[in-house]
Amino acid sequence: MKLAVVGTGYVGLVTGTCFAETGNQVTCVDIDARKVEKMRSGIIPIYEPGLEELFLRNTNEGRLQFTTSLAEGIEGAEVIFLALPTPPGEDGSADLKYILGVAKDLGPLLKQYAVIIDKSTVPVGTAEKVRAAIAENATVDFDVISNPEFLREGVAVEDFMKPDRVVIGTSSEKAKAVMNRLYAPLVRQGNPIIFMDERSAEMTKYAANAFLAVKITFMNEIANLCEKVGANVDDIRRGIGTDSRIGKRFLFAGIGYGGSCFPKDVQALHKTSQDYDYDFSILQSVMSVNEDQKTKLIPHVLDYFGGDVKGKTIAIWGLAFKPYTDDIREAPALYNIRELIAQGAHIKAYDPEAMENVANLADIGSKITFTKDAYSALVDADALMIMTEWPQFRTPEFEKMESRLKNKVIFDGRNVYELEDMQEKGYTYYSIGREKVN
Ligand code: NAD
Repeated sequence: MKLAVVGTGYVGLVTGTCFAETGNQVTCVDIDARKVEKMRSGIIPIYEPGLEELFLRNTNEGRLQFTTSLAEGIEGAEVIFLALPTPPGEDGSADLKYILGVAKDLGPLLKQYAVIIDKSTVPVGTAEKVRAAIAENATVDFDVISNPEFLREGVAVEDFMKPDRVVIGTSSEKAKAVMNRLYAPLVRQGNPIIFMDERSAEMTKYAANAFLAVKITFMNEIANLCEKVGANVDDIRRGIGTDSRIGKRFLFAGIGYGGSCFPKDVQALHKTSQDYDYDFSILQSVMSVNEDQKTKLIPHVLDYFGGDVKGKTIAIWGLAFKPYTDDIREAPALYNIRELIAQGAHIKAYDPEAMENVANLADIGSKITFTKDAYSALVDADALMIMTEWPQFRTPEFEKMESRLKNKVIFDGRNVYELEDMQEKGYTYYSIGREKVN
């Protein structure tokens, strides 16, 4: 099949590359000329485990191409994915300007029937809006369908190639047949393609992300209460996660969720509920608890230093919003760094993949000292804060750490270490939902 993917970010590039891998002819379109130039010369613009190998194979074998021209990109395409940004607008709703802008441009460019797919996370009713925007100037038949993406950054290739399920919202039999053909190689193990109407598919994506945000936030609230009553949230997690109705995943307490999806999707779903005069109160709580959770450790840091971190050097391990990605959108680490800098602290930071993205941030990029490895960040640091649970932080050489840190103190936002271990090693150790050690 000939495919076009408009928007070549985390979702677009994974979608394009994986469908090229299953034998389709894919052209990825992006307005960012520098990004397109990079990809044309064989450089992958994002870090995503396993993607580069597929990217190189498919570009080398001529199944994956890149252009800045929408007209060129969609020429002859039977399927056109819209994988464009849907950032929060001022009122919290998803801003559809990118999607509707491209939809408007698509109308006059369509030369034959095509299935246009909303891959972006978009509010209920967007497929109708996209259809109307294309129809304004279209002269051929087309379908607009909803096919939300559930991939997780960090394991995106695996998620895409072996999805738990594929959700497709359409009432068009013609579009259904095209989708069945396209996705067949990815669901060979029997995972379902679930067909529904467009509105339900759009809602499914928000329901999934909001549910996961609720699950994380619930555990964070349990953790906060654990700290007060003297219980250990990790034991609670094990105790409830073994209940098959609850499940083991997404029960880890920490400094809140971040990333490009959960924060904006919870906000957008809340806005939708307001638009329809429904008081979705649990979402309001989730947003406000998560907001506070992100900087949950700061009061402990201040306490430790007698109320003042001015002139102190704080080492930060982890900047990305989660491990195995270079994505720093809404990363809790940034909230902590901004707060500490505002209070006069100096920051030394290390992250295996995300340092370049943080260095490019206008407000704090130039104020941080980035180091070549995790241990270098500790040299002359007054304390260590762990913000992202990269596996390499799990079993470090503690003696090496001790010789670099000025104080044996760790503020751990991801509960990376066992309390007994910290006790034994003599570290003053603050974590989430567990007692302070030493
Ligand atoms: P992204 O910001 O990484 O990528 C978007 C790309 O679109 C950028 O490369 C940008 O240059 C390009 N673009 C913007 N306007 C354009 C235009 N007019 N024409 C062509 N290209 C244009 O975003 P993303 O993380 O890939 O997310 C895309 C959508 O997918 C969002 O709606 C997001 O909510 C959803 N989503 C994201 C994830 C994720 O993990 N990142 C997972 C599921 C769903």
